[in-house]
Amino acid sequence: MKYEVVIGLEVHVQLTTATKIFCGCSTRFGQTPNSQTCPVCLGLPGALPVLNRQAVECAILTGLATNCAIAPRSIFARKNYFYPDLPKGYQISQYELPICEHGHLEIETEDVVPKAIGITRIHMEEDAGKLIHPEGAEAGACSYVDLNRACTPLLEIVSEPDMRSSEEAIAYLKKLHQIVVYLGVCDGNLEEGSFRCDANVSIRPWGQKEFGTRAELKSINSFRFIKQAIDYEIERQAEILDEGGRVVQETRLFDSATGLTRAMRGKEEAHDYRYFPDPDLVPLTVSPEWVEKVRETLPELPEAKIERFIREYGIPRYDAEVLAAIRAVAGYFDACVALHGNAKTCSNWVMGEVTRSLNDAGIPITEAPVSPQMLAAMLKRIDDGTISGKIAKTVFEEMWKSGKDADTVIAEKGLKQVTDTGAIEKIIDEVIAANPAQVEEYRGGKEKVFGFFVGQVMKASRGKANPAAVNEMLQKKLQG
Ligand SMILES: [Zn+2]
Repeated sequence: MKYEVVIGLEVHVQLTTATKIFCGCSTRFGQTPNSQTCPVCLGLPGALPVLNRQAVECAILTGLATNCAIAPRSIFARKNYFYPDLPKGYQISQYELPICEHGHLEIETEDVVPKAIGITRIHMEEDAGKLIHPEGAEAGACSYVDLNRACTPLLEIVSEPDMRSSEEAIAYLKKLHQIVVYLGVCDGNLEEGSFRCDANVSIRPWGQKEFGTRAELKSINSFRFIKQAIDYEIERQAEILDEGGRVVQETRLFDSATGLTRAMRGKEEAHDYRYFPDPDLVPLTVSPEWVEKVRETLPELPEAKIERFIREYGIPRYDAEVLAAIRAVAGYFDACVALHGNAKTCSNWVMGEVTRSLNDAGIPITEAPVSPQMLAAMLKRIDDGTISGKIAKTVFEEMWKSGKDADTVIAEKGLKQVTDTGAIEKIIDEVIAANPAQVEEYRGGKEKVFGFFVGQVMKASRGKANPAAVNEMLQKKLQG
């Protein structure tokens, strides 16, 4: 590659507040069009916006988690443009004085050791409505406007142009996504548009100081598509430069069907928006005490959790990373370890049976029918020899299906491990008597046949015989 790639990202994060940023309307997704509107979010004359306190706290929390400085005073501004989904003719946003600035996130990729990606700013703004273009008979004849989304609170998180490949861009996005979901400020749903990304991509000859002309790739809603769009854009720009042409500054749309980007419009400059402070909203002041109060609600973030799991529980890094990826899974694991004591055993079960069952059922861990208490109690039944590790999987499955605890399942299904040597001996005698040829082979030196006998005995006991006892007794009898 003859050129150095430069990528900066703008991410729009939709906040999880119950109501909109400047009015009391609900933010619930997927409701009847325009059922969640009022004079404020419809932009009717004379209606006045009132700032949602919780949206501010989400912004502060996100700023703290991304190492930003929280501004003691920030200003809401009007960003003026005309579009049918924007009833006021302007969007309320923050311009010169955003609420958070000068942050960073550390990323890792296969090629890059931990690298800090700067966060220029995080500002609060309202979302616009949505245009619906009908298909079928009405197609092309008209468009509808749904203003349920208008005035929904957003954070725009703007990075420095610090990324040098699409891999780094994706690593940054995934990290940011994980953090906002961990904080609970965003549901992280890319498909519903709760987490949207615009990418500014340019290239320059190696060693050149000035940035090349950039193209902005608009609102792409999957990590895979963002990577495809960036890679395509890099190639497109390199071809233009190779032929001695010039890249023009513009906004481009990514088409996921073809994997190409195409020009949408020339890029507006900030002055095109005629920003000015919104006279309907006083400056937002955030006291140091308020920041400290919000800081107290900051949860343990993924990186800290991973380190703690390794340090305190002694589990492998791989396990720690898998378990810490989702906050609720980490909480489930923590609870399980506290009740059972053996972290590696708990880790194996949470990453194994629990995760598999969740995937099969397509539900999050918060809805798992087997609670950490139930899982820990079952694991104790393995420890005290009531059930074998193998039967435990059957017990777990039954607990998952019925919602009953381990002791009930073991009693009802008769799954208690047989440790009574008399009962095991009887089964072994029967198995030996039924398989004289294999006994001959074993005694003739074919030791592999031993496994066959273990299998037969376990089968005859319906998996309930204590494996250690079976091994020991079989050895004796077969040598006999
Ligand atoms: Zn409203």
